[in-house]
Amino acid sequence: MSTLPFDSSVYAARLERASALAAEAGLDAVVVGPGPDLKYLVGVEGDTIERLTALVLGPGLEATVVVPRMELAKVRSTAVGSLGLAVSDWVDGENPYDLVAAAVGKTTRVGVSDALPALHVIPLGERLSTGLELATPVLREGRMIKDSAEAAELRRAGDAIDAVHRRVPEWLRAGRTEREVAADIAEAIVAEGHETVEFVIVGSGPNGADPHHEVSDRVIEDGDIVVVDIGGAVPSGYNSDSTRTYAVGTPDPEAAERIAVLVRAQQAAVDAARPGVTASEVDAAARQVLADAGLGEAFLHRTGHGIGVSVHEEPYIAPGNDLVLREGMAFSIEPGIYFAGEWGARIEDIVVLTADGCERLNTSEHALRSV
Ligand code: ZN
Ligand code: ZN
Ligand code: ZN
Repeated sequence: MSTLPFDSSVYAARLERASALAAEAGLDAVVVGPGPDLKYLVGVEGDTIERLTALVLGPGLEATVVVPRMELAKVRSTAVGSLGLAVSDWVDGENPYDLVAAAVGKTTRVGVSDALPALHVIPLGERLSTGLELATPVLREGRMIKDSAEAAELRRAGDAIDAVHRRVPEWLRAGRTEREVAADIAEAIVAEGHETVEFVIVGSGPNGADPHHEVSDRVIEDGDIVVVDIGGAVPSGYNSDSTRTYAVGTPDPEAAERIAVLVRAQQAAVDAARPGVTASEVDAAARQVLADAGLGEAFLHRTGHGIGVSVHEEPYIAPGNDLVLREGMAFSIEPGIYFAGEWGARIEDIVVLTADGCERLNTSEHALRSV
């Protein structure tokens, strides 16, 4: 990413809100390492490395970025530079935890982002001589509610992945391996507007019965049911994630019937998704349709997960999650049915909650599609 997806004022507001939420939670400081939270707050991309990069924020603190000098130019090209945040750079041989301690000042409760690895958490805790706690409840609040600009990016990602699904019949046929089909799909994910391919799952026949299957060298056969679950990130970093189930040739009529029930279950959860209901109520809407058709046992996982600058984030649409859904939340609705050794099916859309319902971001054909 060379340019920031949003105006600097967006990042300024996110930082301010994070500090306010930290204050509400009784945290004096929050240390955010590389990962989705850092990307969300200041636009800094990348994973943790052995050299510490961290943003320190908190009520009454000056937001400060501790960064290896060799990473400085990259970090300055983000909102860290455009907002003129304080920077403490360091070189090999210096102790970055001293710099974090200086930015944190005198504190009693310090939170860390959940992506900060033990590699840094342990020495930081020793240096601050305080127990560190997870800042997840503080940091998830901002990321969970998408503003209109973020929703637009998710919509862009949804359109791009829909275009790929519409082209799947070009590549999916008997005699090709899952891996060959997946390679064509991966190319199209980028060609249709994503910057990166995040995952490509092609689960044919019995492989589709394993929800965690990715791809294999299995040769696709006539009559196979095939689960295609794909996603990528658009240049702003927001992700797509959509699953469709295909039949190669003519499907077994009983399988086709069960997949028609799955499509209804998915629709029931989409219809249930609105502000004021709980995550578990949306989950239950899909689960009930499957249970009524005797397919309850075949649904092996939660109904969905939040999505944004990461593919899986809060809110999780799962049994027992009493989180009350709010306008702006974005998540997947992806019930599936799995028959070990035989076949599986899943249908997945991303939705964004509106004031009184939800907007479905994926519109490619939901019904079982014969190719
Ligand atoms: Zn998916
Ligand atoms: Zn998903
Ligand atoms: Zn998943």
